[in-house]
Amino acid sequence: MRRISIFGATGSVGANGVDLIRHAGGAATYHTVALTGGRNIALLAQMARDLRAEIAVTAHDELLDELRAALDGSGIAAGAGTAALIEAAARPADWTLSAIVGSAGLAPGLTALAQGGVLALANKESLVCAGSLLRAATARSGATILPVDSEHSAVFQVLGSENLDSVKDVTLTASGGAFRDWPLERLATATVDQASTHPNWAMGQRITIDSASMFNKAMEVIEAKELFGLGADRIKVLVHPESIIHAMVTHHDGGTIAHLGAPDMRHAIGFALHWPDRRPLPVAALDLAAIGSLTFRAPDEARWPALRLAREVMAAGGAAGAVFNAAKEQALDDFIAGNIRFTDMAPRVEDTLAALSGEEGFGRDPVDLASVLDWDNLARRKAARCLT
Ligand code: NAD
Ligand code: MG
Repeated sequence: MRRISIFGATGSVGANGVDLIRHAGGAATYHTVALTGGRNIALLAQMARDLRAEIAVTAHDELLDELRAALDGSGIAAGAGTAALIEAAARPADWTLSAIVGSAGLAPGLTALAQGGVLALANKESLVCAGSLLRAATARSGATILPVDSEHSAVFQVLGSENLDSVKDVTLTASGGAFRDWPLERLATATVDQASTHPNWAMGQRITIDSASMFNKAMEVIEAKELFGLGADRIKVLVHPESIIHAMVTHHDGGTIAHLGAPDMRHAIGFALHWPDRRPLPVAALDLAAIGSLTFRAPDEARWPALRLAREVMAAGGAAGAVFNAAKEQALDDFIAGNIRFTDMAPRVEDTLAALSGEEGFGRDPVDLASVLDWDNLARRKAARCLT
């Protein structure tokens, strides 16, 4: 039986992953090793019981007793906190879905990679913070990273076994998020509720706000560089409000091959689950006649300064990715808490990058997890203006 684990099982991507496992036969087909979540203990325990997991882990130490009680009589082990998450990731699995949000997904992801097997990676933050560490862990253990982000799954599917030498560039599409059509001068007044509504995709709150600011696409450009080994000049962004084309690969011979599909994460998650096979998935077929037309526009960097920051981060290399991600996470926390405006997030991130670029070691790739976490910590404090 194939052994699977899902980190962040109770989130938007994770719950879709659990549903796809159920759809493919559940406990009769898969041996579930570990499921992890946060504060939604009832949902985590229900998922663990359904899939007959070995262990369920909450990220929060103080919720261990509640999780134990919810699992009472099931024979499923309970764990809580960072050490328990890492211990769960060290249990060998053939397929692990990395669907924790934020840099908190990095340590469990690295630990899972060290066991070999497939890491289906939704947690783009880990590639942005520590691409070289993930690649080194993969090379050491013989593990495979499969993209779960829809655009990167699309590129992976379009590329197939194609040699990158024939590829001129790769285009990631972006819906433009909640404020695509707002007058620029209104953006400063955008509320958290307004930013948390996505025109096409149903996703967790943080990535939905990141879509409105295009920090999500900025992260994805860096993710594409790390995943596919493409230079920054070969990764383009195109605004495509309908979110039907997820990515395109353009070859030197003038041909462009696109991946199309309904905006439904179950396609990319299910593709990674069944890879290298393609199995039927509970995803609606595309009805292009009903959609009628697909439209495109160039990304406007005055509206979305995060795209420019992504290019600067790629040019800087070293610790810039870890600083960028952590400063973005802090700025997002502050926006959600009502401390700063929507339009303050990008300047916060830019200022943090500028302030830390003079620090010793900024230009070198972090050598280990502790070093990534040090940069992460420093950048969060700087972005929160705790440091002067
Ligand atoms: P979400 O907020 O819905 O779920 C996040 C999961 O992580 C939950 O299970 C939560 O309990 C857990 N979690 C949160 N903080 C944690 C911490 N500090 N330690 C341990 N666990 C923690 O998020 P999501 O939208 O499902 O996104 C998950 C990841 O997938 C993100 O990296 C996101 O960028 C990526 N992604 C999401 C989508 C989408 O459609 N939602 C699409 C592409 C990529
Ligand atoms: Mg995406």
